[in-house]
Amino acid sequence: MKKRTFLKLSSVVLTGSLLPPMSSCKESKNTRNAAKELLSTKEFNWARNFEYSTQDFQYPKSTEQLKELVKEMKHLRALGTRHSFNRIADSTEHIVSLRELDKVISLDKEARTVTVEAGIRYGELAEYLHKEGYALHNLASLPHISVAGACATATHGSGVKNGNLSTEVVALELLTAAGETVQLSAEKDKETFYGAVVGLGALGVVTKLTLQIQPTFLVRQDVYRNMPLAQLKEHFEEVMSAGYSVSLFTNWANQNINQIWIKRRVEKGMMMKIPDTLFGSTLATKNLHPIEAISAEHCTEQQGVPGPWHERLPHFKMNFTPSSGEELQSEFFVPREKGIQAIQAMFQLADLITPHLLISEVRTIAADSFWMSPCYEQDSVALHFTWKQDWPAVSKVLPIIEEKLAPFQARPHWAKLFTMSPMRLQSLYKKLPDFKNLIKQYDPQGKFQNEFLEKNLYGV
Ligand SMILES: Cc1cc2nc3c(=O)[nH]c(=O)nc-3n(C[C@H](O)[C@H](O)[C@H](O)COP(=O)(O)OP(=O)(O)OC[C@H]3O[C@@H](n4cnc5c(N)ncnc54)[C@H](O)[C@@H]3O)c2cc1C
Repeated sequence: MKKRTFLKLSSVVLTGSLLPPMSSCKESKNTRNAAKELLSTKEFNWARNFEYSTQDFQYPKSTEQLKELVKEMKHLRALGTRHSFNRIADSTEHIVSLRELDKVISLDKEARTVTVEAGIRYGELAEYLHKEGYALHNLASLPHISVAGACATATHGSGVKNGNLSTEVVALELLTAAGETVQLSAEKDKETFYGAVVGLGALGVVTKLTLQIQPTFLVRQDVYRNMPLAQLKEHFEEVMSAGYSVSLFTNWANQNINQIWIKRRVEKGMMMKIPDTLFGSTLATKNLHPIEAISAEHCTEQQGVPGPWHERLPHFKMNFTPSSGEELQSEFFVPREKGIQAIQAMFQLADLITPHLLISEVRTIAADSFWMSPCYEQDSVALHFTWKQDWPAVSKVLPIIEEKLAPFQARPHWAKLFTMSPMRLQSLYKKLPDFKNLIKQYDPQGKFQNEFLEKNLYGV
């Protein structure tokens, strides 16, 4: 047994033996579970809906160490903060986490860019940028995820004019299968760059990213409750454009949108008069969690209180568990002009969806140029599902949702759960042949391939 594991284990056992009698029954069970977890070297993703297929996790502390690992290993996958719900980051051999490579490398105020190590999390980067007077254009619902992991899967926030988080990338550095360093930029390497940013971890290990920044800004967040579907149908574009970033939350029951979160940019000193109603919905008078049964303590401040961009654009605070914790997630992207039809189609499935759902979110994302982005050359509406953690039930509903959304050419989120056939998925990406050529160029022997990629990019 490793010395560190032994020390941790003995402290658990010791603490357990000192527990007062009243709690000993419950606590000793917890203690036994904790001891069991420490003894096992099992590794799980954030939601703990799957165990990784290897226990060989490496945490290099320098790019040189990382380079050696990449050269030595026959097969490996890069890992960010483990927030994916499917096995996109999994490996049966080695997983190399970039969690120790999380520094800001440089801030170029003239070019308005920041260069970071790939393992940095948005929450930490955002704090740094804000202190320096800068901001990113958008964030996902949570700040806990790594920049490299998010960009590799086209992670997004909301906003009709906001591209996903990958659209902030202007340059990146990648270690190829041969352990060679490749630098790509939007300016110099047009096509290859657009193939590499949403890289699904298939081209190599991203070590650095340079992101576009802008002067820091303030945002206020207001939540409206209960908009009838009929109103949304009439005013979909107006509702989704009512702020810098707009999210709709619904459980698809009663032809109703439960909550509308509107994030508006605020100029310092500017007074903003917010209407009390919006197309049949009413302004909330207290902070809310999208799942109303959960305390809003985890959520970023609402009720129009202006705050820095990174404390309003994500729905969840950095030091709190985002979302529900025990959950599964799926998400599908459709063309924006078909958004309201796709939403109506989901309402028709309410009886099937709602019993297994915690909450759904609808967001908009502007078109981008990344080959493997679900928003490639397409302004999009994303229909997201936070499910109860019951895969047998969810796996039966997903094919029905996918079939219903098929007429809209819906593309699944790369990091969430879907059941679509590989052939169908491949048919939705016209640049896939070019992406496969890029994989051949950087990784001819398939060092970075895994079961997820083999199935979804090459399977039938
Ligand atoms: C509570 C919760 C809320 C979420 N909210 C949103 C949301 O608002 N919007 C959204 O779009 N998604 C959302 N997601 C999904 C999440 O953004 C994606 O799963 C994202 O990929 C997570 O980043 P990560 O660092 O955890 O990546 P991981 O899950 O660790 O890895 C994801 C992929 O990135 C690759 N990768 C990671 N690091 C590197 C690297 N250095 N080089 C090359 N490849 C790399 C991996 O190989 C893998 O293919 C949410 C997930 C959770 C759990």
